[in-house]
Amino acid sequence: MSRIAYVDGRYLPFREAKIHVEDRGYQFSDAVYEVCEVRGGRLIDERRHIERLQRSLGALRIGMPMSPRALGVVLREVVARNRIGYGLVYLQISRGVARRDLAFPVPEAAPTLVVTARLLNLARNEALAAKGIAVISVPDTRWGRVDIKTVGLLPNVLARQAAIDRGAREAWFVDKDGFVTEGASANAWIVTDGGALLTRHADHAILRGITRMVVLDAIKAQGLTVEERAFTLAEAYAAREAFVTSATQLVMPVVSIDGRPIGDGKPGPVATALRREFHRYAEAG
Ligand code: PLP
Repeated sequence: MSRIAYVDGRYLPFREAKIHVEDRGYQFSDAVYEVCEVRGGRLIDERRHIERLQRSLGALRIGMPMSPRALGVVLREVVARNRIGYGLVYLQISRGVARRDLAFPVPEAAPTLVVTARLLNLARNEALAAKGIAVISVPDTRWGRVDIKTVGLLPNVLARQAAIDRGAREAWFVDKDGFVTEGASANAWIVTDGGALLTRHADHAILRGITRMVVLDAIKAQGLTVEERAFTLAEAYAAREAFVTSATQLVMPVVSIDGRPIGDGKPGPVATALRREFHRYAEAG
């Protein structure tokens, strides 16, 4: 079955799904995106993803190309046309097509909306979670507003490739003061020796992960201790457990950082329990 993409009002086979060379997303990364998990054909946390999208668009003064309700219809249609049971749906909105110039186009261009979807392999993800992943640390060279989910991901691209080159799977960004900000494609967490969960507070230096929010709620509901504060790489090395959260990795245990085993070098009980809890939450819809 050939994949179908939505491009500016049309559902097209992938080979015909193209955007203009002067699209500002292509020229300047002047675009934002969202990635939402799909289960049983349902979008997980659609409302929160659309709210974050509206926040990103608002911060960049890009217009919403359609109402949230209409956007939901398009997202579900792309999921259905691609027969996604378990997978992800991706959407991107750029400031539109205009003669190449840094300033916003006058008059405003119509924003470009692209939606794609693809299958994920749940069994493979579960096998990965049972083993846990290796992480490397890299300097955080990103701009100061990574809370806006823009497609400008070059530092993330380089960080993830550096991880792969060093036999790891994810990279954690470390700011100039030695604090971990987040992963190249996920939020970063540790469990301290005292059993407290730590993840960086939601400032401009991290993306406000939707999975992070769900996990924070689960932690609070279970009466566990959680602190939203920056932690250093040294604290991470000494942690009892570490893990990352994202819509596609869910709760993914981290078993080593920069080649140093975390805890006993195996997925920890807190991360494993939170992953189970996330599955329960997503299945309950
Ligand atoms: N941080 C970064 C840099 C990301 O790219 C992502 C997800 O792609 C996340 C955090 C996690 O966000 P979410 O849980 O909404 O997927």
